[in-house]
Amino acid sequence: MERNPSELSKTKFDLVVIGGGINGAATAREAVLRGLKVALVEVGDFAAGTSSRSSKLIHGGLRYLEQFDFRLVRESRLERRLLRDIAPHLARPLPFLLPIYHGDPYYPLKIRAGLMLYDLLGNLGREDRHRMLSPRETLELVPALRPEGLRAGAVYHDSETDDARLTIEMVIDAAERGAVVANYTEVRALALTTQAGGRAGDLVAAEAQDRLTGRRHEISSRFWVNATGPWVDHVRALVPGFDGSRTIRLTKGTHLILPQIAPHHALFAAIPSDNRIFLMLPWNGYSLLGTTDTDFQGDPAGVQPDRADTEYLLSAVNRVLRQPITSNQVLGSFAGLRALVIEPGESPSANTREHRFHQDPWARNIISICGGKLTTARALGEKLVDEIIDRLDPSPGIAASRHPSRQIPLPGGRTGPFEAFVKSSTERAAAEFGLPRTLAERIVRTYGSRWPLVLGLTREDKRLSEPLQGTPTLLAAEVEFAIRHEMAVTLEDFLLRRSGLNWAACTPAGSEAAPAVAQIFARHLGWDAERRKTALDNFAKLAGSGVRK
Ligand code: FAD
Repeated sequence: MERNPSELSKTKFDLVVIGGGINGAATAREAVLRGLKVALVEVGDFAAGTSSRSSKLIHGGLRYLEQFDFRLVRESRLERRLLRDIAPHLARPLPFLLPIYHGDPYYPLKIRAGLMLYDLLGNLGREDRHRMLSPRETLELVPALRPEGLRAGAVYHDSETDDARLTIEMVIDAAERGAVVANYTEVRALALTTQAGGRAGDLVAAEAQDRLTGRRHEISSRFWVNATGPWVDHVRALVPGFDGSRTIRLTKGTHLILPQIAPHHALFAAIPSDNRIFLMLPWNGYSLLGTTDTDFQGDPAGVQPDRADTEYLLSAVNRVLRQPITSNQVLGSFAGLRALVIEPGESPSANTREHRFHQDPWARNIISICGGKLTTARALGEKLVDEIIDRLDPSPGIAASRHPSRQIPLPGGRTGPFEAFVKSSTERAAAEFGLPRTLAERIVRTYGSRWPLVLGLTREDKRLSEPLQGTPTLLAAEVEFAIRHEMAVTLEDFLLRRSGLNWAACTPAGSEAAPAVAQIFARHLGWDAERRKTALDNFAKLAGSGVRK
């Protein structure tokens, strides 16, 4: 996947997708698989918005059962199965332990009934079904739990992903199949045909600016999708005729990175004080604790965790832990914004997570995506492209009724049964490339069936087979691969969104890789010492933006 924004003005596209988060990526991939001429433009890096700041779960949303949102749970459970097939490296089944304490808003019988329904709505087979546990069995699974007041436990299953890599693999697939994709390219203006007699106009062109060079490109297309998540109303406002209305409500969700507390199970537990739940996942050798859900009014680009978020999350988890976690054990944090379809009067947590396609009456050929989930993004893209194809005159090469994205693997997804693949590929990678097993396994798990492409680079240049100074588990070849084949332009593009470390790159241990990564960027992109220093400063600023105490 190569970055070449000048291609944007060479074609009249069928569809231009604005925004390279998971929803934009899934829509662009779907459209190109169905035969449309597609472009995707992203103002920052792919997945740099909400799509790298989630809880990283491919989940049915057990909590949505309480809201009787069976349709969303069913669809999410189906998508989880589907992702296991097309991207097993990015949808790894994860057991959840749900401890039930005195004082929780639910009791064991209610949980049992809810989990039976959850299983009925779709699981991955016998191993994936829930089971109820006694207090003793619960503590055996997670000894860190507080025994006092524990009434019972339950184990059920969802899946864990790397949200940023999931997004980027969708973008890569779209690009490899012919879409023109460009990160660091901002849509700044949109042109509409005149609206005679009060009728809707057609959006005919966009002006996009390459943020790396300052160059402007005019893009023209028959149809447009505004997939800008928290910025969706900002982009609607670029269309002449905008009436100042809002379609989404923003709520902030913060996560904390903690030392490893429960290595084999995620925890799902009640926060009785405000009738919410928290999740704590085993993640990159740490525990990832989330999340808050508070209304957010500011500039979406400025969202950050704050002290109140840390206090709220620690008090929630400490209620169920034997040994409380203190704020100085927090190793990092990050925040993201949910862009929820507006439901007046609902509390943030009760607000629907369903998506909506919004059509403004003054512009005929642009649809804005409001809301959605990482888990259901593929299905969202499918439904949206169905609608777009319906509205464009289908030309012969365009498939109106096929749904190829249900079967075609993502680029790293050609693995077959995943654990057997990891075992055999790890052995091969370790033997062929002389790598320690743990490193070989991490690379296989991160890149799935593309791992030989990453390690193949070491044959060109022996220096690339060396682990990066400061982080023995990252290889120089991965940085080179991200620059050459995955459109990485900055240190954080690699560290946060392509290496598999995700926000763990911003912990003190993760950040130690930054100078070595900068050296490879400098060599590859011809950075001088000053440019390298700026890149390191920018990364340090980002890593420091999480509140540690
Ligand atoms: P984004 O990822 O925000 O993408 C929008 C993109 O548009 C951005 O990258 C932005 O830079 C770009 N953009 C903006 N303006 C322009 C412009 N003018 N030109 C070009 N590009 C532009 N879902 C799950 O399924 N599982 C979970 O565990 C989960 N956990 C979550 C936890 C939290 C705290 C939050 C906040 C959300 C969670 N979600 C989860 C929901 C999920 O993360 C989001 O639904 C999803 O990431 C939204 O993707 P998006 O593409 O709509 O938005």
